[in-house]
Amino acid sequence: MASTMIGKQALVIGAGMAGLTAAGALAHGFDHVVVLERDTLPSEPTHRAGTPQARHVHGLLLSGQRALSELFPGFEQDLARAGAVPLRAGLDIRVERPGYDPFPQRDLGWSGYAASRPAIERTVRRRVEGLANVTLRQRCRVKEILASPNAAMVTGVRYEDDDGASETMAADLVVDASGRGALTLALLQSIGRPLPEETTIGIDLSYATCIFAIPNDAPTDWKGVMTFGEAPRDSSGALMLPLEGNRWMVTVGHHGDVLPSDAEGFLAFAQSLRTQTIYNAIRHSKRLDGVARYGFPESVRRHFERLDGFPRGLLPIGDAICRFNPVYGQGMSVAALEASLLKRLLERPGQTSDPIAGLAPTFFSEMQALIETPWSVAMLDFVFPDTRGQRPADFETMLRFGIALTRLAAEDPAVHRLTMEVQHLLKPRSVYRDPNLMQRVFARMAEA
Ligand SMILES: Cc1cc2nc3c(=O)[nH]c(=O)nc-3n(C[C@H](O)[C@H](O)[C@H](O)COP(=O)(O)OP(=O)(O)OC[C@H]3O[C@@H](n4cnc5c(N)ncnc54)[C@H](O)[C@@H]3O)c2cc1C
Repeated sequence: MASTMIGKQALVIGAGMAGLTAAGALAHGFDHVVVLERDTLPSEPTHRAGTPQARHVHGLLLSGQRALSELFPGFEQDLARAGAVPLRAGLDIRVERPGYDPFPQRDLGWSGYAASRPAIERTVRRRVEGLANVTLRQRCRVKEILASPNAAMVTGVRYEDDDGASETMAADLVVDASGRGALTLALLQSIGRPLPEETTIGIDLSYATCIFAIPNDAPTDWKGVMTFGEAPRDSSGALMLPLEGNRWMVTVGHHGDVLPSDAEGFLAFAQSLRTQTIYNAIRHSKRLDGVARYGFPESVRRHFERLDGFPRGLLPIGDAICRFNPVYGQGMSVAALEASLLKRLLERPGQTSDPIAGLAPTFFSEMQALIETPWSVAMLDFVFPDTRGQRPADFETMLRFGIALTRLAAEDPAVHRLTMEVQHLLKPRSVYRDPNLMQRVFARMAEA
């Protein structure tokens, strides 16, 4: 292993999904990897303060599951052992969208898993804890990324340990997986470098989530439900997924005002959805928790790839680069795909004498292909008139194309499968440019 190492020590800020998967990748390129996390990391799959979003539904796409299995072979079996519920794609989730209540349920030939975010993260963390050259240090809050006196390279971080003492740690590479990426931006600012341009899609999404015991008389024709409102008039929707421990997690949301924090208000919102499937399932079910809420103002994409030069030894990853409207369930999977890309870059035979200097620019450039499809999914929010940001010029055509494609997918299992493969980020959106498919979609558009 030592002959392929490109540095002695890598340091990861944050033990969320991006930090843990990055640590798994970096273990292949550095003698030693240290992960510094500000939280106490629970030994059980329970909540912690640093990831408040973990109280809400966290769907894992098949691309994310596969990337996690590539980084940690046997990951899917670990997830199953942790109690994750297997789901047949296309069959086990009842999808309700205007005109299709429900969308045809058919087995598309692959399985995924549903579990709580703490259970998914705990499963990954166990695998990272098992890596001989990775150390996870909890209750260490990074305060600052440190640069060399000439500001050309990053040399390590300053952090506060458990006792509040200020410490420094040197590293050949610092990976910022802190979610917000504020430390990276602060460093760029402090050394007089430009900040990356940002593209934002403002949605002011309000989320509320409750957990219920699955009753004995639960419907048997689905394991979960996804309900969409009538866009562009109604942005309300809900996702109910099964969790480990025979539970349902129900997240409801809309663009706009904060949702109620009490159980009655939660049920009333569920009842006000376009369909009653979720309300009927939970109205007599035992509630196991209070109502958790979350406000998500905007999807953000930072264009690090457009920067002219970047400090050697620094790499932001995960949400620090791109945060997506969570409704589409893409963040964890994109983080795992980015970590897989990082691993491939570390394993690629060195083309320069200083592979660490080349790492961030190559990563920023190659991850664009990976971000393109999930970002174009996040752009669907422009269907709502109050969405802020730069609406693509051809958005109306995109929408009409999407509606016609959905109609074809409802009729033709092969097209259904293809759209699910794109949704699960197994294939890029560009597969829709297949001439034969485009001809069929355009014919539907003309009919409409
Ligand atoms: C409401 C909501 C629902 C979501 N639902 C889904 C979903 O269904 N499917 C999906 O795939 N994704 C979903 N996401 C997105 C997903 O949570 C993230 O994209 C994913 O976890 C990757 O995030 P990350 O690891 O980059 O950051 P985070 O998960 O935010 O982790 C950052 C970590 O860094 C630590 N940290 C922060 N600052 C410091 C510091 N200074 N020093 C040390 N440690 C620090 C934090 O404590 C935390 O552990 C959702 C997000 C939200 C907000």
